[in-house]
Amino acid sequence: MNQYDLVVVGSGPAGRRAAIQAAKLGKKVLVVEQGKRVGGVSVHTGTIPSKTLRETALNLTGWRERGFYGRAYRVKQEISADDLRRRLLITLDHEVEVLEHQFARNRVQHLRGKASFIDPLTLQIVKDDGETIRVSGTSILLAVGTKPFRPSYIPFDGKTVLDSDELLEIEDLPRSLAVIGAGVIGIEYATIFSALDTHVTVIDPKTTMLDFIDREIVEDFTYQLRDRNVKLHLGQKAEKVERTADGKCSITLDSGRVIGCEMVLFAAGRMGATDTLNLPAAGLEADSRGRLSVNPETFQTSVPNIYAAGDVVGFPSLASTSMEQGRIAARVAVGAIAKEPPKFFPYGIYAVPEISTCGLTEEEVKERGIAYECGIARFRETSRGHIMGLDSGLLKLIFSLKTRRLLGVHIVGEGATELVHIGQAVLNLKGTVEYFVENTFNYPTLAEAYKIAGLDAGNRMGELISRG
Ligand SMILES: Cc1cc2nc3c(=O)[nH]c(=O)nc-3n(C[C@H](O)[C@H](O)[C@H](O)COP(=O)(O)OP(=O)(O)OC[C@H]3O[C@@H](n4cnc5c(N)ncnc54)[C@H](O)[C@@H]3O)c2cc1C
Repeated sequence: MNQYDLVVVGSGPAGRRAAIQAAKLGKKVLVVEQGKRVGGVSVHTGTIPSKTLRETALNLTGWRERGFYGRAYRVKQEISADDLRRRLLITLDHEVEVLEHQFARNRVQHLRGKASFIDPLTLQIVKDDGETIRVSGTSILLAVGTKPFRPSYIPFDGKTVLDSDELLEIEDLPRSLAVIGAGVIGIEYATIFSALDTHVTVIDPKTTMLDFIDREIVEDFTYQLRDRNVKLHLGQKAEKVERTADGKCSITLDSGRVIGCEMVLFAAGRMGATDTLNLPAAGLEADSRGRLSVNPETFQTSVPNIYAAGDVVGFPSLASTSMEQGRIAARVAVGAIAKEPPKFFPYGIYAVPEISTCGLTEEEVKERGIAYECGIARFRETSRGHIMGLDSGLLKLIFSLKTRRLLGVHIVGEGATELVHIGQAVLNLKGTVEYFVENTFNYPTLAEAYKIAGLDAGNRMGELISRG
């Protein structure tokens, strides 16, 4: 009775997409989720809450209108943590509702409880009331995601020293915030709080940040952060974090510098949530960061009937890519044909301003010895940018001189995470600089920046000699 074609552990983007895919192929599917509600990190503590918070912060502060009305412009003078939470709860309810409906419509069963292996085909599920049941799957997909890394030298208290899950529960907005970790999550929250008028300091032992992003884009982004008075302490390690007698915090850096602040966000890494799965019973082992290795084409682990997808398998650790991984894993698991996804996927960083990128960076193009040309457009060159009052925003296209094909698109500025998809389509369809030079774009739009950047590169690349 408790035998399924596919048992999925975890209901985040990878798990839910896998479950629905297998169910659509007529399979009997069970999703096991230990959280109170389905949706995973993505819905409850990661993607959706942070993006909702960002949207609320930008709306209530009037951030997008400041180009016209000046830096002092505010839609709401006093913004509270409650203002931010209200929209969050409504959004999360909608997300969960849609997901539960998808499961019901596709006859995906779901069970609340914590799963661990008994053997490679059998899981034990411990429910909240302590009841234990066993389920078996011809295939099992581990889509357990990650949880924040919480080193013992950080005195987390859930109120003033927090990880990124706890940040969503704060009762008051801090006047000053130190973010330890200049990765994507740290930078997103640092810039959101900076938009909310919190004094923000970012600390990271590395001298550079967002290393997988084109350097020119990071430089432009960093300039904007400094211009807003975000303090960047890169190349410095936070050695000690303490709470002080006045209820604040103090961080001692290895340089000897001491930073005082009202709140500390520790956002330096996440661990695969594999510690409670009893992996040895299935013949599996995680790495030191709790991650599982898989065949990147099939998402099969070293145990043939066990698959893993999503953040638990590591980079790029995005909701978007997790969904695709889950879909492919489910198709392979139930014996359906699974095509490899297109080569280039977009990466979105929802900082303020947004960054988005697809394809090769200029540094990668140089490393590969490809002869190239770049085209640059600034949003303030577009009529839409004038209408919106934008004084920042940069779009960079990289083309091969030999094939004239687009190699990479890199954007920082308003709407970057939406705009990138034009470049992504051209990249995956192997388009050339001529696409941008010859096509008409809606006017006035920010997408017109593609045309400007295409012309910029095209002018230097010269005309196409033979036109067939
Ligand atoms: C602050 C933050 C912001 C982010 N922003 C973005 C963004 O803007 N865009 C983007 O694409 N990605 C973003 N991400 C990343 C995105 O959230 C993850 O890539 C995505 O959630 C990974 O999905 P997943 O399916 O691997 O699992 P998760 O979403 O991590 O879900 C895993 C689920 O498995 C459950 N589980 C774990 N162990 C067990 C067990 N033993 N038994 C039962 N259930 C179990 C957990 O309770 C959890 O619900 C963000 C992440 C964070 C933390």
